[in-house]
Amino acid sequence: MELKQNIAHSDWTKLLRAPYVVRMKIYLDGKFVDSSEAKVSVFDHGLLYGDGVFEGIRLYGGNIFRLEEHLERLEYSAKAIMLQMPHTRAELRELTCETCRQNGLTDAYIRLVITRGVGDLGLAPWLCPKPSIFIIASKISLYPQEHYDNGLAIVTVPTRRIGPAALPATIKSLNYLNNILGKIEAKQFGALEAIMLNEQGYVAECTADNVFIVHKGTIITPSSSQGALKGITRDTVIDIAAEIGVPLRESDMTRYDIWCADECFLTGSGAEVIPVVKLDGRVIGEGKPGSITQRVLAAFRRRVLVEGTRI
Ligand code: PMP
Repeated sequence: MELKQNIAHSDWTKLLRAPYVVRMKIYLDGKFVDSSEAKVSVFDHGLLYGDGVFEGIRLYGGNIFRLEEHLERLEYSAKAIMLQMPHTRAELRELTCETCRQNGLTDAYIRLVITRGVGDLGLAPWLCPKPSIFIIASKISLYPQEHYDNGLAIVTVPTRRIGPAALPATIKSLNYLNNILGKIEAKQFGALEAIMLNEQGYVAECTADNVFIVHKGTIITPSSSQGALKGITRDTVIDIAAEIGVPLRESDMTRYDIWCADECFLTGSGAEVIPVVKLDGRVIGEGKPGSITQRVLAAFRRRVLVEGTRI
């Protein structure tokens, strides 16, 4: 298949980091093991069916950002798929902190995964007696710095965000194929991220980020019922808007609203707050990161250093 190469080749290779080759300590089912020993069974339903839940969490300057909110979302995701949590909230809090300490990290991306565990080759989750849990604390750099400075050019992809009747997007499950199809299409169009619409044609979110626009001084984001994950960074931006005195509302949004917005930005634990300056070839606003986006980004960077759970 011929792929368009609008994106500098170096952008994609920068994204091809391989944290798994770095020696690190992983928490896996009750103990800390070397990354070379951190293995799960081929019969794990997390692998066979994407049956499980996860969180992507950030550690900034020795503080885990919004850990309680992440653990709460994890518990809700597990409840929604009727997965028994293998640890209490307090145990998970401590294990997450300990994983960072074991690896001597002060700034990291933490991946906390709970799978349905080992079963037979059928779907039945009730034949998987014990969930599996692992926690990885590593480095991540999602987008090259130049895109924070100059903004991203993104596209709308044909793959629709899966509807809530099929699988609520609020469940942060291991089943990311819908988003991965969107990500593949983004790359085919030469973009690093993409807008995904829901089946009604309204903007849901991006493949791994929430989306916001600024129009006539108001920040607007689609509600999670349009098919968006309730992002922890999204919630943080809602708090930041109140802090900096910019009105914010949730509203249905079409591609037109983004094309004709004054500003646009995306949010995610990995991406943080990243400006978008182009969608589907249309320049957004003045084609550079907008002033409200920059204020939100600055407030976000301040918050992550002071808010959080000390490890
Ligand atoms: N939407 C999707 C589909 C995601 O996977 C993510 C997480 N990368 C987000 C939104 C952003 O959520 P959060 O701010 O909690 O990382």
